[in-house]
Amino acid sequence: MTDSPAAPEQTLGFQTEVKQLLHLMVHSLYSNREIFLRELISNAADACDKLRFEALSQPAYYEDDPEPRIRIDFDSEARTLTVSDNGIGMSRDEVIANLGTIARSGTAEFLRQLTGDQQQDARLIGQFGVGFYSAFIVAESVEVRTRRAGLDASEGVRWVSAGEGEYTIAPLAQAARGTEIRLQLKEDAAEFADAFRLRHLVRTYSDHIGVPVQLPKPAAEGESEGEDAPAEADATPAWETVNSASALWTRPASEISDEEYREFYKHVSHDWQAPLAWTHNKVEGKLEYTSLLYLPASAPFDLWQRDGVRGLKLYVQRVFIMDGAEQFLPMYLRFVKGVLDSADLPLNVSRELLQQNPATDSIRKALTKRALDTIERLAKQEPAQYATFWTAFGAVLKEGPGEDPANAERIARLLRFNTTRSEGEAADRSLDDYLREAPAGESHIYYVLAETAQAARQSPHLEVFRQRGIEVLLLGERVDAWLTAHLHEYEGKTFKDITDADLPLEADEDEASPAAPEGLIERLQAALGERVESVRVSRRLVESPSCLVRGADELNPQLRELLKASGQEVPGGKPLLEVNPEHALLRRLAQTEDEAAFDDLAVVLLEQARLAAGEQPAEPAEFVRRVNRLLAS
Ligand code: ADP
Ligand code: MG
Repeated sequence: MTDSPAAPEQTLGFQTEVKQLLHLMVHSLYSNREIFLRELISNAADACDKLRFEALSQPAYYEDDPEPRIRIDFDSEARTLTVSDNGIGMSRDEVIANLGTIARSGTAEFLRQLTGDQQQDARLIGQFGVGFYSAFIVAESVEVRTRRAGLDASEGVRWVSAGEGEYTIAPLAQAARGTEIRLQLKEDAAEFADAFRLRHLVRTYSDHIGVPVQLPKPAAEGESEGEDAPAEADATPAWETVNSASALWTRPASEISDEEYREFYKHVSHDWQAPLAWTHNKVEGKLEYTSLLYLPASAPFDLWQRDGVRGLKLYVQRVFIMDGAEQFLPMYLRFVKGVLDSADLPLNVSRELLQQNPATDSIRKALTKRALDTIERLAKQEPAQYATFWTAFGAVLKEGPGEDPANAERIARLLRFNTTRSEGEAADRSLDDYLREAPAGESHIYYVLAETAQAARQSPHLEVFRQRGIEVLLLGERVDAWLTAHLHEYEGKTFKDITDADLPLEADEDEASPAAPEGLIERLQAALGERVESVRVSRRLVESPSCLVRGADELNPQLRELLKASGQEVPGGKPLLEVNPEHALLRRLAQTEDEAAFDDLAVVLLEQARLAAGEQPAEPAEFVRRVNRLLAS
C-alpha cells in the first residue's frame, strides 16, 4: 500500500439547515433530553446491521471481531459519556455527508413543522432522521472516532464539534472497526454519567434492539479499587449486557408485553406516539415468514409525498436487508409500519429482485389481509381509536377500492363519512350505518361531491333529500372523486350522485308535480342558447332557484379535475339547468316582458347554479355586469 500523506485537520461549516436544527433542538427539546441516548444506540444498532449485511459478500469485514455489540461507558468525574459500536463505521466522506449535512430532502419540511410543543417536536426528530444531532441537547462537545469496515487502520477519522456552526475533521489511526461517540456532557446534564440512570434508559428505550448493549460491570462487593488492583482491570473493564438483545419479532407473541411492542414500534417507525394496534404473526408452511405490523396514530409528514419513505423493514433470516421495502403492502396501506422477516427470499435480494420473486406476491396478499383484519378489529372494538385512525389515514384508505378491487367490499365497510346525519363536521357514519337507517326498498346510496365537505353541505341539490329525510354522503376530499369512480356498489345498493340528471326520485304521492308557467322553459332555453344543453323543471329544489345537473355520460367536475391533473384532457359537455318554478325569481321571470332584462335574469340563474356547485362562472365579467344591471334597475 502506498503511503499517501494524510489530509490535515480541517474545519468545515455545517449546512445551514443543520445549524438551524441544532439551535432548535437544543432550545426546544430540553425536557425530553434523554432521547439522545436512544438515538445514538439506534444508530449503533443500524451500523451493526449494515456490517452484517455487507459482510455477506465481504466476510473479511468482520476482521477478528465478528460479534456485534454496543458499549456505553462513562466517567462521572470528567462528565463524559461514550457510545461505541463495532459496526460498519464511516469513511471520511461518509462522516462529512452524514454528520455535516442532513441528507434527506425533508429538512425544510421538518423545520416548518416544528410547533414549539416539546412532545410533538421530539416526535418529529425521529421521523426526520436527524437523530445524531440530538447529542448536542446534552453535550457541550461531541467527538466521533470511526473507521469503516474494509479500510486500513490508518484511515480512521476524528470529528469534533461544539455544535455551533462548524466541526473539525482529521485523520486518525484507529485500530478498532466501528464508531465511538464521546460526549462531553453539559454541566446540567451530569446526571447521565451514572450507571443506574444509563441502565434504566437502556432497558426502557432499547431493550428490543437485536444487538447487545453493554455497560461496565459494577465492581463486586469488597473488591478493592486501591493501588493494588491490577492495571489491566482498569484498561479493559468487564462488560455486562443490559438489554434482552433478541430481535423482538422472533420471540413468541405470548411472551411479549404491550409495553415491549410499543417500544419496538418507536424503533421501527421513528414515531414517538404509541401505535393504535398491531398484529404479530409467524407463518409456517409453503412460505415461512414472520411479520409484525403496526397502525400508527398520526400521519407522518411525508404521507402525501411521492418520494416519501414507506414500506416495511425487511429481514431475511434475521439479517437486516433494507428499510422501506414497499413491495409487501399496497399503496393504500402505506401508513402501516413494521417488520417482515422471511426465510424464503435470498440474502442478496435487491429491490428489483424482490419485484420478480413469486414469494413477494403471496406475502403481499397475506399482509394486506392481516392489515385489513387489524383495521377492522380496531373499527369494531375501539370506535374512539378508530376515529383517530380515520382522521389520520382515512383519505389514504379511500384509494383502496381503486387500487385493490378484490378487497373493495372490505375496504368499503371501513370507510367513514361526513353525511347529512353527522354530528357537525365529523366523519362518523359508516355505510352500514347508512343502510341501517335507509328507507325500506331504497336501492341507492346517495352522495354529493364538492371541493370541501362544507361546500357539499351547502349544495342546493340536497334540498329535496333534506325534505324527505334521506341521508346523503357529503364528499369533499380530492380522493373522493377517485373513490366514487371505483366503488359502484355496497351490499347490493348502488352509489348515486345526487347531481345526476336522471335522479331516481319518485314523486311523493300527495305532492303535485311542480310545473312551470306556460312557455317559460322555452323562453329560458332560447335566452341561454348555446350556453346550456337544455333547461327543465326541477324536482330536487326546495329553496334555491336553480341548479346544474349532469347528463348520463358526463363526468363530474371533481373527477375531471383529477384526470386533468394527471395529464388527461377530458372535454366537458354543456350543462343541464334545472329551475324551481316555485321560487320568487322564477315567478318574476315569468312576468318579465323586457327581453334584455329577461336575458340578464336567465344568465344569472345559470351562473348562480355554477357558483353554488363551487365552480367559476363561465363568463365572470359578463356575469358581474348583468348582476349590476339587475341591482340598479
Ligand atoms: P438516521 O439514523 O435517521 O439516518 P441520524 O442523524 O441518526 O439519522 O444519523 C445520520 C447518519 O449518520 C446515519 O444514517 C449513518 O449513516 C451515520 N451514522 C450515525 N451514527 C453512526 C454509527 N454509529 N455508525 C455508522 N454510521 C453512523
Ligand atoms: Mg438515527
